[in-house]
Amino acid sequence: MTTVDHLRQVRLGNLRTVLLALVDRPGSRADLAARTGLTKATLSNLTEPLLANGILVEEPATLAGMGRPSKPLRFHPDGPVAVGAEINVSHLAVETLGLDGETLDRHLVPADMRKVPADEVLDRVAALVREVSGPRKLLGAGLAIPGVVHDGVVVRAPNLPKLVGVPLAEGLTARLGVEVELDNEANLAALAHLWPKHLAGEDFVHVTADVGIGAGVVLGGEVYRGASGFAGELGHVVIERNGVRCTCGSRGCVERYAGLDVILREAGRRHLDSLGKALQAGDPRAVGAVRNAGEALGVGIATLMNLFDVPTVVLGGSYAVLYDHLSEAVQSEMDGRVLAGGERHTRLLASPLGEFAVVRGAAGLITRRAVQQPERLFA
Ligand SMILES: [Zn+2]
Repeated sequence: MTTVDHLRQVRLGNLRTVLLALVDRPGSRADLAARTGLTKATLSNLTEPLLANGILVEEPATLAGMGRPSKPLRFHPDGPVAVGAEINVSHLAVETLGLDGETLDRHLVPADMRKVPADEVLDRVAALVREVSGPRKLLGAGLAIPGVVHDGVVVRAPNLPKLVGVPLAEGLTARLGVEVELDNEANLAALAHLWPKHLAGEDFVHVTADVGIGAGVVLGGEVYRGASGFAGELGHVVIERNGVRCTCGSRGCVERYAGLDVILREAGRRHLDSLGKALQAGDPRAVGAVRNAGEALGVGIATLMNLFDVPTVVLGGSYAVLYDHLSEAVQSEMDGRVLAGGERHTRLLASPLGEFAVVRGAAGLITRRAVQQPERLFA
């Protein structure tokens, strides 16, 4: 490496440190210098181009205590943004995220996407992305899909067969003129709990139920995808060797006992809303169905925790809605089956992010990369 390259690398590394500090919270130059360990001169030098390019903004001076007035720096409210988009079986969703993690706009459009051709799906997604990003500079778009993704292509999506094998990221890039990253929705929902704020530590599993069961495994602060994108298929962990046949070809998969369709059927309800009302009213059939699902889910989760030694499980999506009636059974199975549980307490949480977790993670994939590779901000 030449000296010039080396200096450039050092500068980019410092820039990343400053941006990460600002994602944490705004701060004056003096405050940022103290938090990052950089000198004030280096700091001014690094922030100058960020201010000039409208990425940061300097707020009016505030008098703090006895000291000199400080002018906090923060991400510019009209600065560059990323958009997260989700193609789901029953809806399209988009969210615009600032570099500081602020949600600027979001929409969820109910639509049956199962039979829509890929080109039309991409046209509709592109239109929604343009609508929510507005005139701001668009850093890129994250695209979430309920299927297994490998190398930017969907390799398995039982509920969206028209999208399998289609280069979706490429198609959306052609429409929007920005970089597009395609990933599985469960991975992105997990990422939303990691960036821009750590909501569940650095080692956790995020589990949701929709048509299937999705799990995103986060190890050491990174989403673990596996060799070909199939990691975290908790729904197809076998809990009964000779159990019920599953759509995957196996038997006794967790999904056949704890999937949302199974819970609704066992509870005699058609929708999550009506199940929620039945649970509130103490309907014994509904309560029993959710408890049984919780036990099955807990057994599957305990297996995952034993394999990866993750201390925390976050229940999201429909599971977060059912959390009050589900958690006791899940926790009880975890307590009885997780080997590390005796050493330190295993933690079960309800996701605070609601139905927008997936799009938030999809946008976060792009803003996180821009902060980690700051040269992207000046491209
Ligand atoms: Zn299965």
